Amino acid sequence: MNIKQLFDNKNLVFSFEIFPPKPDYPIETVHDTIEELSVLNPDYISVTYGAGGSVNNNRTCQLSHLIKDKYNIESLAHLTCIGSNKEYIDCVLEELREKGINNILALRGDIGSIGVGEFNNSQELIQYIKQNGDFGVAAACYPEGHIESKKDVDKDVRILKLKEDAGADYFISQLFFDNSYFYNLLDKAEQKGIKAPIQAGIMPVINKKQIERVVSLCGASLPNKFLRIMNKYEYDKLALRDAGIAFALEQIVDLASSGIKGIHLYTMNNPYIAKNITNNIGFILSSINRQRVI
Ligand code: FAD
Repeated sequence: MNIKQLFDNKNLVFSFEIFPPKPDYPIETVHDTIEELSVLNPDYISVTYGAGGSVNNNRTCQLSHLIKDKYNIESLAHLTCIGSNKEYIDCVLEELREKGINNILALRGDIGSIGVGEFNNSQELIQYIKQNGDFGVAAACYPEGHIESKKDVDKDVRILKLKEDAGADYFISQLFFDNSYFYNLLDKAEQKGIKAPIQAGIMPVINKKQIERVVSLCGASLPNKFLRIMNKYEYDKLALRDAGIAFALEQIVDLASSGIKGIHLYTMNNPYIAKNITNNIGFILSSINRQRVI
């Protein structure tokens, strides 16, 4: 199934993201996590690709296959094109096809030390995937602007339109801690005539190291309210984790009640977080999606 159909049939799509274990750890180390996440009944689960340049595509493909095959949950395989040529992408597409995976999150990837390769940006990858198979394609968007755009959201929205025109069926946003950035992006996308649904990426923050890493990688702003929580619970791990979950819940309740199309939860392979969030928003999800049925 093309995940786009979920957006056609539900008011609010709710999904999880996981990452494969590093190559020196057995792939099975993430199997229990998937099992625990599957019980929470997400609409789909996405699997990251080559995060930090250390994970090979087989693991993304294998885990995406496991999610579909064993748990009967739709999966979304991330794929980056940085440093790749068409021959390599063809092999990955073939592998995904063989394993029955229908949905790809098409990304450029971070430039780092790798040269660009045969694809200059995600738009070219999206177009290539659409021309070479019957895949549903998602793409990334950035409520605070992509780090290379230097917070120029207008420029990014122009690029977003190019991604939609290239064939992106829907978008998943970079994480953010202040919902006003996401609403701003939705307004700008609408003004630009973008019709594809935009899912909000939410990352519950569970420790200080993680926050520092996230901010340095994607440049997300930290609202005062959030900084106060961090300072207050800096040395109390469990309190910080639960305060992080509570903060994410507040974000999600606000977004869901404002009628956005979907929430994508960066679970960080932590079922405790996913369970807490899902159980607490269950009533909103069922209420919002029931309205559609009536
Ligand atoms: P692009 O859409 O190509 O954009 C990159 C930059 O180039 C932007 O500044 C954009 O404005 C600019 N640009 C793009 N096209 C043009 C054009 N035609 N003309 C001028 N400028 C242009 N990384 C991983 O390695 N693995 C993952 O699994 C992964 N998953 C992710 C999931 C989500 C939901 C998100 C939001 C990000 C993810 N990333 C992942 C990170 C991502 O690879 C980086 O953010 C990367 O730097 C940009 O990827 P992109 O697909 O958005 O690139």
